[in-house]
Amino acid sequence: MDIKILIFIFTIIVTIVSASVGKSYDGYMLYKIVPKDDSEVKILEEIQVKNLGEFWDDAFKVNQETKVMVSPENRQEFLRHLDVGKIESKIVINDIQRAINDQLKPDISRSNQSYLSYSWTEYHNLEAIYSWLDELEENHPLVAKTVVMGKSVQNRDIKGIIINHRPGRPNPLFGVLEGTLHAREWISAATVTWVIKEFLTSNNTEIRALAENFEWHIFPVVNPDGYAYTFSHNRMWRKNRSPENVKTCPQGVDDDMSHGVDLNRNFDFEWMTIGASADSCNNQYAGPLAFSEPETRAISNYVKTLNEKGEIIFYIAFHSYTQLIIIPYSHVVSLDDALLSGNYPDMYEVAIRGADALEKRYGTHYRVGLSATVMYPMSGASFDWVKAAVNVPLTYLIELRDLGEFGFLLPPGQIIPTALETVDALVEMGQSASRLGYYELQYSGANSVVFSSLMILLGVLIALLK
Ligand SMILES: [Zn+2]
Repeated sequence: MDIKILIFIFTIIVTIVSASVGKSYDGYMLYKIVPKDDSEVKILEEIQVKNLGEFWDDAFKVNQETKVMVSPENRQEFLRHLDVGKIESKIVINDIQRAINDQLKPDISRSNQSYLSYSWTEYHNLEAIYSWLDELEENHPLVAKTVVMGKSVQNRDIKGIIINHRPGRPNPLFGVLEGTLHAREWISAATVTWVIKEFLTSNNTEIRALAENFEWHIFPVVNPDGYAYTFSHNRMWRKNRSPENVKTCPQGVDDDMSHGVDLNRNFDFEWMTIGASADSCNNQYAGPLAFSEPETRAISNYVKTLNEKGEIIFYIAFHSYTQLIIIPYSHVVSLDDALLSGNYPDMYEVAIRGADALEKRYGTHYRVGLSATVMYPMSGASFDWVKAAVNVPLTYLIELRDLGEFGFLLPPGQIIPTALETVDALVEMGQSASRLGYYELQYSGANSVVFSSLMILLGVLIALLK
């Protein structure tokens, strides 16, 4: 075939793919700014209030890097504001739409890494994730069971999977993993699905031990409406899709912005006290009241009920980006107040050891600490509520890769490295928690390989008999 025809067909395919994503980010640029003093922070706040750009970070402070996405229409006015304050900036991504299109292309440099219908060389939509969970249940009937924790605003299931290698064990210990509370943070769903695959299929004794010592409740996408919306309409969507608080937003922002509540500001702990907004046009809108959203109510009810059936030891919420392991509580700003959570030193030790283990594989550095010290203070977050209301001993929020080179638009080639190093961290965190006395290691993984092989065999037999 003529090369020109091939290029023509390819261009049509790319156009169709990008058109299906809805809102176009053609010509949008991503700028990096590090405000040097309070006056520069003030100008950034002015830029935000005037909606001359959309900030990728939830808040900004002196000497902390922030990213802002600017449309071609607003560019001149945005740069004028920077000029007035003599603020330095650097372009990180010069065409957001191209980065969005690139993120949708599978990584062909890597050999195909897949399990059943799912792979980690590309990002998958909600339907693909949910049907894969069904497949897992079919293929591991004695160990894996799908579960729906509740419904979203638009009546989608919030679906996850329970992995229990030791059915019928007395006094079960639980681990809960929460993925993609923020819609656009696609690496969260990709990483959490990898963890599921590892817990079901890995032959590594350390991973198996972690998988078997807990009954795992894992939800790759707890904001299904928002996640679906990032595929169908707006790649950069963060909140859920609640229509309750829709209003006319200030000039320059399309009114769709007032749809939705930031689910990680809507939990009933220190709700609306710091780092949250009462304005539905804002990306950190905390909702009209705590637990106003069906998604946050579903998560909290599920966690409470689960803890009554045994004991939740770990609760980890996966977000992106900035490479952090965050320890509760997020509204406190001093280390003295950090002790309010009861076991800050232990949580810190488990996290720092996890971060060290993570770094060994590729040198990826994660910082560890309170949200206020490593990022910014916030309130109404899920993991803080889990710590305060359910008293789960080890709760974390992990901000995955990267440091902002691609941010939310992390290329698919980084899914597997991110997933591998994250599992390294989880394994070490599990072992550290046991050393600190949070649970007793009952299964070593090694002894149980035979047992689990028998379980798989039994599962196959049952499937055949059906
Ligand atoms: Zn997030």
